Amino acid sequence: MDPPRCLGSSDLEEATDDIAAAATLHRGVPSDLVEKMMYDALVWSALHGLVVGDRRVQNSGTVPGVGLVHAPFALLPMSFPKAHWRQACELAPIFNELVDRVSLDGKFLQDSLSRTKKVDAFTSRLLDIHSKMLEINKTEDIRLGLHRSDYMLDAETNLLLQIELNTISSSFPGLSCLVSELHRILLNQYGKDLGLDSRRVPGNTAVSRFAEALAKAWNEYNNSSAVVMVVAQSEERNMYDQHWLCAVLKEIHGVATIRKTLSEIDTQGHVLPDGSLVVDGQTVAVIYFRAGYSPNDYPSEAEWRARFLMEKSSAIKCPSISYHLVGTKKIQQELAKPNVLERFLDTEDIAKVRKCFAGLWSLDDPDAVKSAIEKPDLFVLKPQREGGGNNIYGDNVRETLIRLQQQGTEELAAYILMQRIFPTASLAFLVREGVWHQDNAISELGIYGAYLRNKDKVIMNDQCGYLMRTKVSSSNEGGVAAGFAVLDSIYLT
Ligand code: ADP
Ligand code: MG
Ligand code: MG
Repeated sequence: MDPPRCLGSSDLEEATDDIAAAATLHRGVPSDLVEKMMYDALVWSALHGLVVGDRRVQNSGTVPGVGLVHAPFALLPMSFPKAHWRQACELAPIFNELVDRVSLDGKFLQDSLSRTKKVDAFTSRLLDIHSKMLEINKTEDIRLGLHRSDYMLDAETNLLLQIELNTISSSFPGLSCLVSELHRILLNQYGKDLGLDSRRVPGNTAVSRFAEALAKAWNEYNNSSAVVMVVAQSEERNMYDQHWLCAVLKEIHGVATIRKTLSEIDTQGHVLPDGSLVVDGQTVAVIYFRAGYSPNDYPSEAEWRARFLMEKSSAIKCPSISYHLVGTKKIQQELAKPNVLERFLDTEDIAKVRKCFAGLWSLDDPDAVKSAIEKPDLFVLKPQREGGGNNIYGDNVRETLIRLQQQGTEELAAYILMQRIFPTASLAFLVREGVWHQDNAISELGIYGAYLRNKDKVIMNDQCGYLMRTKVSSSNEGGVAAGFAVLDSIYLT
């Protein structure tokens, strides 16, 4: 396999070998320097669209340009070992391929999720749509995946371990690029004072590569008057991340987008006899979901009708219902069982993928449940949910497991158990709403991946940039939008 694109620049190799400086990245920075960098960073964010809607302003999630605030960010990039970075990049195309292959095994998806289906109404509805597509033998010739595989570096074993693989609404391809750029600019200006070299912050291509993938998919659909449709939540304070993608799509590729909620698609959409999806009078070539991953996105039957309408159409879905299901935590856990990856990948790739799997257990494994009740701090209990804030940690793991056991075994199938990963904490400057504070922090690295194929022809299968998120080490969860973490970039050591 070719070296990952992110490492193609000779920048890295030329950078001074200043590992010691990186190790002390955020320590001992004089406060006047912090203030200067803060000021520059805040101005830069405002001028360059590193922004989100301000939750203190009422219309900030519905009207663009109203109530903007800089996105939460780390003032300086977090150090990250080059070897692990390479490893994460190298995994991206393998995971892309894995998702595609698993998605084609409808029986595997249905069987793996069959017990979850009984106790989790949301997953059950997704599976119903999937079953209906299997019944009508629906084939998706053109398949587009815009994924993000998230990792933490486990301190004790020094292993890069996967937290999860997102196959729907992978967020921050737009803003993550801006944070990398901001860090490079700050280090260009202040790097000498800090003993840091801006060339060690890898360039981030997420927004341009994701736009490229969407444009290529649009092109495969082969209807020059069709549009890309962004399925959005009715209130979205992270809209600028999404608008960045649409802007690049328009400006670089000349592809127009429309933005609709699930409920609008229900009222304004229909499928023509030839399978075309028409929404608000426009033919849709590609449906890009930035909503639809959470039960909250389906407050009534209208939203489910819209999801079904889109699925049965010939528009390219990013993701299709089967790609969506491959990204569930239950499938992650099933893939980690012995002899399962063997059904989908070759030996060399299996070894690479398995190396990044943390311990994952189904709750019908009595030994795992027993261990988790005894030592809850070593585990995370996860329901089939996305978007942050849903997992269970610490003493709540024990309490929940005991309660679920008492309720009967069925309920247990809604969750998986995962080994808790403990990254090394280091000092970071976390900036929110114009105020910084320094704290011990841990980070999660996400690698974006884009995959596009038309029948047998793989048109794109690449890693596409990265997202670093940093949070105070005392916090369990990690979502930026959910308010736990800040956007960050990496400083390769
Ligand atoms: P979601 O789909 O809601 O983002 P995740 O599996 O990514 O679900 O979990 C949310 C957050 O919880 C992660 O960003 C991470 O901070 C934390 N987390 C999840 N799994 C683990 C784990 N095994 N060890 C430590 N932290 C974890
Ligand atoms: Mg997720
Ligand atoms: Mg996550």
